[in-house]
Amino acid sequence: MASSIARLLLLAASATPALSFCGAHTHLDRRQEGTVEVNEFGYTGTIGPLLWTSLDPEFNSACSEGMRQSPIDMVAGHFNMMPGDSIGLTIPDVPEGAKFENLGTTVEVVMAGLGGGLTMSDGTVYNLSQFHFHHPSEHIDNGVSMPMEMHMVFQSEANEVAVIGMYIDIEDPAAAPSGVSRSYTRCLDANTKLATRNQLHRRAPSSLLETVFASVGEIAEPGSLTRTGPLVMSEVVDALMAGNFQAYSGSLTTPPCTEEVSWFVSTQKLVISASTFMNARSVLGYNSRYPQNTPGEPNLLALAAQS
Ligand SMILES: [Zn+2]
Repeated sequence: MASSIARLLLLAASATPALSFCGAHTHLDRRQEGTVEVNEFGYTGTIGPLLWTSLDPEFNSACSEGMRQSPIDMVAGHFNMMPGDSIGLTIPDVPEGAKFENLGTTVEVVMAGLGGGLTMSDGTVYNLSQFHFHHPSEHIDNGVSMPMEMHMVFQSEANEVAVIGMYIDIEDPAAAPSGVSRSYTRCLDANTKLATRNQLHRRAPSSLLETVFASVGEIAEPGSLTRTGPLVMSEVVDALMAGNFQAYSGSLTTPPCTEEVSWFVSTQKLVISASTFMNARSVLGYNSRYPQNTPGEPNLLALAAQS
């Protein structure tokens, strides 16, 4: 990624070598009022994830060499289960709406400065920078790909990054009156898990997602921006806190694939209406990095190069 953000981040990294640095999703430094910088990497062909390192070999080397890369298949043993209320999540509602941008690689709601954050048990405080979307899901839900995934990106004063991942499923027309599926992780029996998972889409659409994607047609072009309607964040916060997090140490899922990212993939799922999903899909296209190797195991690209 030979973009200006890459150079900014290199400068930042060289100035504070002991600190991790923010990635393509957390472009706090480059943002200028009224402009959206389009990312130069992609998801297919020669700018796709197999060749991300080649776009900037020095800066993106973790993409092909890192051994704790994201996303992964979220299977038992690869994460620690944590109660949803153990990470001190707070995100105020945004009645005035927020900026909504098309970065070319995703669509992103800008939340910096709006008061969202999380506090870890060790006292580390992270501030919510933005949330964005992938189609299809990047993480795999114990072997099952989901229609979409939302990433809420948080950053600490020391530029440490934490991301909350939430799967998004498509509404069943025979919906039950709830926008958020219940956690199924306490179900130990495999058949019960499957039956519960198959019921998850029988829920009413998330008001937050319906509100956000009501504006997605206005930013169909990469580099464009608009504003969302009023955002009721409590729906998502309440859902996250009522569920569990599958926590693991991984990476940014975009160049430069920086590691030591704290991932919290929720057992709660949001639901989106079929028509809104199609609107979102038409703008997102395809923007998922392929599943990476088990954390701690060699990078799949390194293994492929040896074979
Ligand atoms: Zn993401």
